[in-house]
Amino acid sequence: MPSVFIKTFGCQANKSDSERILGDYSARGYEETQKWREADEIVLNTCSVRQSAEDRVRGFIVNLNKFLIETGKKKPKVILTGCMLHFNEKEIKELLPEVDEILPIAEVGFNQKSIRKDRLSAWVPISTGCNSFCTYCIVPFSRGRERSRSTEDIIKEIENLAKEGYKNINLLGQNVNSFGLEKSGINLRKLYMDKENFSASSIPTNESQYQKPTSTPPFVDLLQKISKIDSIEKITFFTSNPWDFWDELINEIAINPKIDRFIHLPVQSGSNRILKLMNRGYTRESYLSLVERIRTKVPDVVFGTDIIVGFPGETDADFADTFDLVKKVGFKVAFVARYSPRPGTASFKLYPDDVSAKIKKERWEILDQVANKDNLGERPLIP
Ligand code: SF4
Repeated sequence: MPSVFIKTFGCQANKSDSERILGDYSARGYEETQKWREADEIVLNTCSVRQSAEDRVRGFIVNLNKFLIETGKKKPKVILTGCMLHFNEKEIKELLPEVDEILPIAEVGFNQKSIRKDRLSAWVPISTGCNSFCTYCIVPFSRGRERSRSTEDIIKEIENLAKEGYKNINLLGQNVNSFGLEKSGINLRKLYMDKENFSASSIPTNESQYQKPTSTPPFVDLLQKISKIDSIEKITFFTSNPWDFWDELINEIAINPKIDRFIHLPVQSGSNRILKLMNRGYTRESYLSLVERIRTKVPDVVFGTDIIVGFPGETDADFADTFDLVKKVGFKVAFVARYSPRPGTASFKLYPDDVSAKIKKERWEILDQVANKDNLGERPLIP
């Protein structure tokens, strides 16, 4: 039986994709191995959020080459997938000549049966890609336009998971709130990134990329349908963009005891100036008001967040605004990242990376202390 080794870098979306990639290999008669040195095929499911994530992929290939030279073994087939596919095929061949095949994430598909290791808690993708163009983010280019899965398919999968004994469902999407509301069809990469005279005004707004729901938002409808499956006890979702966290969603969380009281609500910055440069589509005031509205209706809610420090042009005053917001919200956990310019993103094209590494580190330490260490032990993040 041929064997496959899957190396997953990065976030939960990649881990979920790897479960389906393994399902596909298994259906084709492969067995999984945990030992890359023995594998016939190696799948590298990559991350591009920071340069260091891409460097780790390169590091893996260097180790592989070293091993092949030392042992004289035949090179396994190497397949590259995930977020490094924001590079085109020619660029990948130059960067990583050892790669034999490229697997676009869209080809992994939603309906390939996943092979999961966790027996109680299942990650279920509801959408992939993103139509929000946060200026620092590579996802709209690596994963492409947002595409929602059909409600029927998701429910069918969760019913089967319930039969297998799963109690906890974690719904996964770049922005779960916008499930079923994306506009599609236009090649935004052409419109947006390949333009010669690219400027900040070329960046699409969130409003231009999604339809406003006219009745119950599809994501709320999905939550209601999942809740009706008796043996499912807890539903968690990742991630919600603050700009379209509808009131209907708040109301549903308030009345639905199966929905987790942990909400991951990435703020990224507490400075209106920086939020605008990031093209996040909300202000610090609207974020704080959202937190307040959720807390009023869901008193036992706890919040997690993502924050980037050292975004281009971030001044001490901008950082003070972020610090202030973090104190005001009282997050239970925050993933604080130092800005890392990613080729292919708008911020890379438009804004010089002008905050020094030293200042980024200082700001990172301050926020990590206030958002994480001061709360240590109170709430685990991932169910
Ligand atoms: S919402 Fe913004 S940060 Fe999140 S995946 Fe989309 S573009 Fe990236």
